Amino acid sequence: FPSKVTGDLEDCACDVETIDGFNNDQLFPKLQTLLESDYFRFYKVNLNKPCPFWKVQSHCGLKLCAVQPCSPVSFSLNPSPFYSAEANDNQDTCEQEKHLGAVDVSLSNETREALLSWSKHDDEAERFCVVDDEESPDSQYVDLLLNPERYTGYKGPEAWQIWNSIYEENCFKPSTIQRPLIPGLFQSSSGNEGQCVEKRAFYRLISGLHASINIHLSARYLLDDSWFQRKWGHNVTEFRQRFDSELTAGEGPKRLRNLYFLYLIELRALAKVLPFFQQPSFRLYTGRPAEDQKHKELLLDILQQARNFPLHFDETSLFTGDEIEGAKLKEDIRLAFLNISRIMDCVGCFKCRLWGKLQTQGLGTALKILFSERQIEALKPKSSGERPSFQLSRQEIVSLLNAFGRISTSIRELKNFRALLAEER
Ligand code: FAD
Repeated sequence: FPSKVTGDLEDCACDVETIDGFNNDQLFPKLQTLLESDYFRFYKVNLNKPCPFWKVQSHCGLKLCAVQPCSPVSFSLNPSPFYSAEANDNQDTCEQEKHLGAVDVSLSNETREALLSWSKHDDEAERFCVVDDEESPDSQYVDLLLNPERYTGYKGPEAWQIWNSIYEENCFKPSTIQRPLIPGLFQSSSGNEGQCVEKRAFYRLISGLHASINIHLSARYLLDDSWFQRKWGHNVTEFRQRFDSELTAGEGPKRLRNLYFLYLIELRALAKVLPFFQQPSFRLYTGRPAEDQKHKELLLDILQQARNFPLHFDETSLFTGDEIEGAKLKEDIRLAFLNISRIMDCVGCFKCRLWGKLQTQGLGTALKILFSERQIEALKPKSSGERPSFQLSRQEIVSLLNAFGRISTSIRELKNFRALLAEER
């Protein structure tokens, strides 16, 4: 296990123990409560977008890959390939259906109007991810609590193809890219020499995300799948194979450092975005004012805690810089991110696609925030009808907090694995 979050980048020397203590004891429990609220547990997503790059082998046969849409109406009207037999069987147990209805109804009243006016102003150029068209009949609310990220059995050449495309095509990797695997995809034009710190950081963010996904599947592994029970739990062997220094020729600990790096970047974004959520006009709208207010206060508390965390990056070292350079860099990173979010539509396992899309959108939102620091700090109460210069859509907000929740959970899981590994010795 790493003790410092340093690597090739000397941008942050953070004590892992400090991050662990801060996350595990303070932030993690609050985040869990927040993410269980209706506002954050329902994520609207289009899981039926065709892969723009190659033909995808559907894994709807893999029952662990199924996603429950929590929407029996659209289920019957709009059958789609990701509803497997398992989802079908569980339809009746989709307890939150009525709550989902509440969300939908709320959207059709006051919030719908607000959202419409917001979305009119949503600036395409500011987006780091392909945002699924919320009006598309293929977009569905998914209850994230009913579809936890865990082991699905998705592996082999198809999974590698996804990871490989992400790293090879989009990551500003410190190796010369020979030719595009997917014609037309973005490539770094600047080569590696003199590559700026943000582009090197970008690779570490993706690697951190990859590590997080692999921690989750090791922590919620299918340990027993007999006819009378299904048991989920920690698979220490799986974890060691992926992260043990000896078994991975030293790569495992680097990947864990990248996870911490990702944690700090997303934490930084949460700290920066506080003024946006402090605007009196901002509400976590679900139609239940008392609850909404309580959850807004909890969200502000979490963001304030993120702001108080002492071990942030040097302000001047990442995602800032002069205006012209900064704009070019922002555009390069935005384009790379757009491609990664499109590659997510090529993930054959729908459960993995769901969490892959959510987490890339969440990270994209974090980067959008970091690149918009000045606009966010300049947010002031505007006269009615005037549009604030910085906006986040509901999808962006839900993905940002849930993506951070995933990384926070991974860090918490490392504590569990440490204890399990110690027991083995
Ligand atoms: P992989 O994890 O597939 O890695 C491929 C190669 O990448 C490795 O050989 C290694 O060289 C390199 N690599 C591995 N980790 C890192 C890292 N952190 N940084 C840099 N390089 C690395 N499976 C599930 O069970 N549940 C899920 O929810 C799930 N979600 C997924 C979401 C996405 C978007 C993708 C692409 C895959 C998902 N998978 C999921 C599959 C899972 O990530 C692995 O691909 C699968 O378990 C096979 O693992 P592997 O050991 O063969 O190596």
